[in-house]
Parts: sequence; structure tokens; C-alpha cells
Amino acid sequence: MKPLFLIGAVAIDPASGLEAQRDILLSGSTIAAIAPPGALKPEPAVTTIDVRGCWVVPGLIDVHTHLRDPGFPQKETIESGLRAAAAGGFVAVAAMANTDPVNDSPEVTNYMLARAAQVKAAALIPVGAVTRGLKGVEAADYEKLAAAGVRMFSDDGMPVDDPALLSNALEVAHHLGLPVSLHEEDRGLVRGGAINAGAVAQSLGVAGIAPAAESERVRRDLELALKAGAPIHIAHLSTRESIELVRAGRRHGAQITCEATPHHFTLDVRAVLDFGTDAKMNPPLRDTADVDALRDALADGTIDMIATDHAPHDPESKRASELAGCFGSPHKRWPLDEAQARAFAAAANGVIGLETALPLALDLVHRGLLKPMRLIELMSTNPARLLKLEGGRLAQGDPADITIIDPNLEWTVPPAGFISRSHNSPFTGRRLKGRAVATIVKGEVVYSLFPHSRAAR
Ligand SMILES: [Zn+2]
Repeated sequence: MKPLFLIGAVAIDPASGLEAQRDILLSGSTIAAIAPPGALKPEPAVTTIDVRGCWVVPGLIDVHTHLRDPGFPQKETIESGLRAAAAGGFVAVAAMANTDPVNDSPEVTNYMLARAAQVKAAALIPVGAVTRGLKGVEAADYEKLAAAGVRMFSDDGMPVDDPALLSNALEVAHHLGLPVSLHEEDRGLVRGGAINAGAVAQSLGVAGIAPAAESERVRRDLELALKAGAPIHIAHLSTRESIELVRAGRRHGAQITCEATPHHFTLDVRAVLDFGTDAKMNPPLRDTADVDALRDALADGTIDMIATDHAPHDPESKRASELAGCFGSPHKRWPLDEAQARAFAAAANGVIGLETALPLALDLVHRGLLKPMRLIELMSTNPARLLKLEGGRLAQGDPADITIIDPNLEWTVPPAGFISRSHNSPFTGRRLKGRAVATIVKGEVVYSLFPHSRAAR
């Protein structure tokens, strides 16, 4: 592998406070040198890449991805998911445990790591289940999972209802030095709801989910965390109330980290009218005021990281044929008839996100809501810290895990152009500004738009 020499870019590294033009030399799997323009004189044998106009940042890390492997190859595989991640600028993704079989044993963890090792793309960080089979009844063997390489525990997709089971998990995980990520949902309050409660649910004729279904569970788990003296990580925060609870919990000394997804901070529930079940996820898209609150919380530091909750589904799981023609203009047919409303409620939850997360986050930068430095903190520095990874930094001796971003490259999300095996996205057809143009993992380019994007300039 030839050393790589990146010249002319603005290097952004929240860990060291760097935001300035730098040349960067990568040798083997580490950053060999980083210096002001012209200061480094590498050997002629290096491969030089001129990245003027771009940002060079510590590689993006997603703490919340569903790779569907083992179990659901029609939705995604470890290979397709890790390639989609690399194309989105991610050098590593945390793969959730709700596979089939569930990742509640070292055998499944070993399978995932072995498959990932065969793919030249983003790295896979295994997430182990909190409870066996995600059934919420019996604790998984946390020590064994940690020894196999698990870096976080989560039953994501399902809440952990039993407070004693969760308290025990928090204590053991804390002892192991690993985080627990919580899907906050009080199923007693969801009561068969399909989208956020309110006018859109009413006009479609489907049952609504009250925001309290999330915030009441956040409230309970903040208390559990305080009692256990252990940290918690809250997945996909989506409501104003939850954000306020996190702020209050921190004032009371709770150790909380939390994430928000690009779909929750970009879209409100009205997107369901245009995209149908491709805008149906759990927690659901909320109201405009919730979207605004999430954006404020991303900017002011309340929310620590952006996570994709990449959740690939095939058209059948999304009930696409039964609901064909029901959504988007000019085919509005609301309220849905009884069979359609049932199909909608039964449709799988989730949207893909790996390939659109960075551009949607960059939109907040273009609108002046986030500084570039804060964006990289949200997508690299803080995720690396949560998962206790070596990356997330851009200094000499750090891993050569790097994302090169062209913040101004305009493109349209193609309906069938995803590297993911699935295309359940409410962002298809959207014009976006900025994207990853190259992703480097352990010194090796695993995704690149060069020279295409250079020629386009
Ligand atoms: Zn979830």
C-alpha cells in the first residue's frame, strides 16, 4: 500500500481544536504527519491527492446501524451495508443486535466480525443484546459478549421494560466500561399507533403515537441510571419533552449521552403524506416544534451525536403494493380505507440513512445552525468517545481513518441509486449540497468519487 499524501484541504479536528489548511501524510494505517501547506516534503513514491475545496476530517462513525445480517439478506448484508456506510463517509458503524439469530452470543458476534473482515469498506462495531433473543426476560452474558468484541449493548427496536433487568445491565456494562443504548418506548402508551398523534394521523385515518410514549420511558430510565450510578445512552431522541428531560437529568447528575437522526431533525410528520411507509419509523416523525427543538439541541450540546438508525427494508415489508398510489401528489386518497390503514400500521418501521446522513447534517451547516467543527464533533469525535474507539481524532499517530468531504458538491438523491440493498428513503429525489467524496479506512481508500468530482469542478 503506497503512502497517501492529501494536499490543500481544510483539516477539521474538534479533539485538538484544529480548523485550518493542512497537508496530511498517511503511511500504513496511521497518520504519519500533518502540517501547514508546503511544510511536508514526502518521498516521490507517495500517491498525492489534491483535495482543495474539501474538508479532511476524522472518519465519521455511526453508533446506530441495522445491517440485517445474519437473517435478512433481501434487506441488507454485512457487505452491502458496510459499502453503503463507506459511500456515506463512515469509517465504522455500530451494528445493532436485532438480527436473526439475535446477536446475544459470541458465535453471532464472531460471524459478524469475520464477514466484515472480508469486506474492504467501513469497519463493523458489534452491538450485543441486553436480553436473550431481545425478549426482555433474561439477561444476555455481557462478559462473554464483551470478550468476543461487542462494544455496546442494546435491545434496539425493542425497549427493555423490566426495570430490574435494565438496572442490572447498566451496572454490569458500567463495570465492563461499555455503554448501553436505549430504545425509549412505553408500549403501553403506543397502543397500536403508527405515526405521531395529530392532524396527519387523523386525515390518514391511522392511530397516533403520543410523544409521551417516548418521554415517559426516558423519565423512568434517567431515574434508573441515577440510582445505578451508571451512564446511559439514549437512541434516536425525537421529542421536545425528551430533550428537556435530558437537560434536567444532567442537572441532577445523571451521566447521559444521546443521539438524534437526520430524518428526525430534517422532516416532520407531514412527510408521511408524500412518502407513505418510507417515512414510517419508530419513534415516528414528529411536529415542526420537535424538529426545531432537535436542531437547537444539536447546536447547544444537549444532543451529543448524530446517528443514522439505518434500517433497510424490502418493498414487501413496507407493504408497498397494497399502498401503491395512496401517497404523494397527485394520488392522494385519504382517509385510507380499512384494509389500507391496516397494511400501513403493519408495515415495517425504519428508513435507510447511511448514504444521506452527512449531506442532511451539512444542510444545518449551510443554514448557519451548526459550525463545521460542531458537525464533526457530532459525527466523529463523540461517537468515537462513546464506543471507546481509537479514531475520532486527526493528529500524528492517530489511525488513518479519514473522511474527505466536499461541502459544496450538489447532487440529487437517485431513487434507485443506493449502494444499500434497500431504497426505503423519504429523501429520494431531494437536491442535497455536500457529501463525502472519499473514505479512508486504516490508510486504504475504501470509497472515492475521484476523479469524477474533481473533473466536475
Ligand atoms: Zn430504535
